[in-house]
Amino acid sequence: MHIGNNQELSEMLIRVRTGQFDLLITAEPDQSLRIDCEGRWLSLRQGSTIYRRLMDGSVVRYRHMRDKPRPVETAESVHGLAQELAGQFIDYLRQDTLEVELRGHLTDRERVIGRLEWVQAWTDRRWTEWSAQFEAAYLEPVVILPPDRYQDLVIQPALGCPHGECSFCAFYRDRAFRILSDPEFERHLEGIQTLLGSAIGLRDGIFLGSANALAIPQPTLIDRLRWIAEQVGPRKRQVAAFWDPDHSPTRTAADWGDLKAQGLATVYAGLETGLPALRKKLGKSNRIEDFKEAVRIHRQSDMGLGIMVLVGAGGETFREAHRTATVQLLESLAWTRSDWIYLSPLSEGLPRYRLQEELEYFTRTLRNSVPARVAPYHINRFCYFA
Ligand code: SF4
Repeated sequence: MHIGNNQELSEMLIRVRTGQFDLLITAEPDQSLRIDCEGRWLSLRQGSTIYRRLMDGSVVRYRHMRDKPRPVETAESVHGLAQELAGQFIDYLRQDTLEVELRGHLTDRERVIGRLEWVQAWTDRRWTEWSAQFEAAYLEPVVILPPDRYQDLVIQPALGCPHGECSFCAFYRDRAFRILSDPEFERHLEGIQTLLGSAIGLRDGIFLGSANALAIPQPTLIDRLRWIAEQVGPRKRQVAAFWDPDHSPTRTAADWGDLKAQGLATVYAGLETGLPALRKKLGKSNRIEDFKEAVRIHRQSDMGLGIMVLVGAGGETFREAHRTATVQLLESLAWTRSDWIYLSPLSEGLPRYRLQEELEYFTRTLRNSVPARVAPYHINRFCYFA
């Protein structure tokens, strides 16, 4: 890939922001490179195209940030582009006549140049090794996270989904739910730490994979949370996990309090719909009262909550009933301003324009009636970003 630069050098302003664990260098209007504290590129912008590296070493590209990420088939070409761009920034920084604005803890050009030179060391061979290390550390792919947790470090004390029968979800059909043994979990934690090195500091939260870590029996889950705190250390946003109350041990408020004391800060549960018949049709339990009761008890611990709703589920047949029952149920729960309601469009449910109408209806109605934050949840936009 060629790096084009039509801008007059004399007009160029180079901006450098350095944090404890990363460095961002930009040459407005069309070049930027963000790298971690070990010299691995994280994202780059070249012209109107933005590239982001994923944790497994693959790469996606965007035309703009609201765009759907598109996989880049030849990740090596973008790894090469990152090296080329780092080299170009080094050249810029060596030109005394160029204006450079330095912010953060690297306050002279030579130190920034030193950091950019590390990018050159990330050759194709090292990226191949990185992908192999990722696969050894993670026993199954990371396929989904709630949007507010995209920058979490995923740790998998369990694999798969203990239910696996929802008609709209193909994520875990081909594998059984399994809790990692002590030696497996130890290897998993070590693998992640080796993979990321000091750049692990970039992850400000931890997400327990995979589909329902809350299915892990209470004593084992407490043990795993302690283990994570000791090995990885506390994180600003603490720990979060998906929770399926229908396939998890029944927990008292005291049980939730014990998990909270070990760092679990938020759980995300798939309601999908408040309509029992539709929920059953989707492959979930139709015992909505059980769901409500589990959430009521959970709320007594003051732990954060996210609830997912499927917009368009049941198509035209269930449209009105799904709207009414779901809004009623959500309004009956106790919410705080830091909780989330995520609206996930189910593309096979309704034609695209009707789906958009439904998304707008739920967003408007819920924003007016519950204090929680309400946001769309496009699961096909998820990537486990580096
Ligand atoms: S419980 Fe969640 S992860 Fe499991 S099959 Fe249903 S939607 Fe998929």
